[in-house]
Amino acid sequence: MSSLRVAGTAVPASSQLFQRAEAVVPGGVNSPVRAFGSVGGTPRFITSARGCRLTDADGHDYVDLVCSWGPMILGHAHPAVVEAVREAAGSGLSFGAPTPGEVELAEFIVERVAPVQKVRLVNSGTEATMSAVRLARGYTRRTKIIKFAGCYHGHVDALLADAGSGVATFGLPTSPGVTGAQAADTIVVPYNDLDAVRAAFEANPGEIAAVITEAAAGNMGAVAPLPDFNAGLRRITSDHGALLIMDEVMTGFRVSASGWYGLDPVAADLYTFGKVMSGGLPAAAFGGRAEVMDRLAPLGPVYQAGTLSGNPVAVAAGLATLRAADDAVYAALDHNSERLGILLTDALTGAGVPHRVQFAGNMVSVFFADEPVLDYAAAKASATWRYPGFFHALLDGGVYAPPSAFEAWFVSAALDDAAFDRIAAALPVAAEAAASATPEGTRA
Ligand code: PLP
Repeated sequence: MSSLRVAGTAVPASSQLFQRAEAVVPGGVNSPVRAFGSVGGTPRFITSARGCRLTDADGHDYVDLVCSWGPMILGHAHPAVVEAVREAAGSGLSFGAPTPGEVELAEFIVERVAPVQKVRLVNSGTEATMSAVRLARGYTRRTKIIKFAGCYHGHVDALLADAGSGVATFGLPTSPGVTGAQAADTIVVPYNDLDAVRAAFEANPGEIAAVITEAAAGNMGAVAPLPDFNAGLRRITSDHGALLIMDEVMTGFRVSASGWYGLDPVAADLYTFGKVMSGGLPAAAFGGRAEVMDRLAPLGPVYQAGTLSGNPVAVAAGLATLRAADDAVYAALDHNSERLGILLTDALTGAGVPHRVQFAGNMVSVFFADEPVLDYAAAKASATWRYPGFFHALLDGGVYAPPSAFEAWFVSAALDDAAFDRIAAALPVAAEAAASATPEGTRA
């Protein structure tokens, strides 16, 4: 039991912490979706995690189906990763100079994702996509970018328009603080719609530097690209002298050893990675064709840098994670997401709730919709009002699902039979809550 629990008080430690946090941190959180804004209630403050379970400040434990939004494919506190981090930390935390580990991590990425010939490490997925977009603009000497509604590429100014994840959760069309010029250089088209992409190129001849897409969308819920969609983007961008940026921050090294590229081998010009490749510590990367990457400083004129880039501790966590992620781990991830999908389908069908359980590789999500969801308009039109009751019943049953209807659910290889038993026990109650929800009230 946590020492934060105050004996004799009825106020849970998470609520006390949230109150303190709200006084000194905007919204009480360091990333908006964590605030439970769209599902209501108090975020759980997590004090530790091991394997597939999280423990909160009140000593409650949860089966984790968020996995830190994707990175923790091995489960939490995996011994090999913890040991690698300990060892690296003992040798110094940051040098601001090249290290052997970052070479190894870059080699690892290059080996696994064939179109990536060179890679540069950064500190977050946001930095990776921001840098890739700048490089695409510098390389093509064009300004405009095409992105897809409902895709989220981090909080890069130019990429916030009609974005998924927290921007979708809070219903924001874009963000104040993004200038008109930045917004004007971003063309937003519906996901899975190649005609719209062609039309955008025709309307902006010679002006589009790049198309950026999530390799498989996970930030409006899991929405896989239609079979020819990514290949079609490759053809259209090549035809128009624009670059294709495949954002694999979420899918990279999660949905297969080579990310989405391993499932749908469309060669993009640039890729972005994060999450799994840093094992849960702050590191990310962007990479691609050597000819494009070599436009970066110090070889070329496109500037990009970072004091902590290639941080040795983050690199050690990433390398240990990638090394431990063998075929058995990827098989377990696939098996666990299938098993979760079956439980979700059974419970929601049993309660008579219209739904679609969708997969993008081993990412899963639940849409309260009658038809398959192929784009953001359909995701937004789904009965998201069923989600808060569903979410809270799961939480009450010891299952930690994403606190937003617009997020993918992430499994780890560490999910065990006891975890699935708990999910199976919680789901029928959650499905009943979803069934009895009404559009007017968050929880009926
Ligand atoms: N790109 C994608 C596809 C993401 O899912 C995310 C974050 O979830 C990002 C970029 C931004 O990464 P970060 O949150 O590390 O800045």
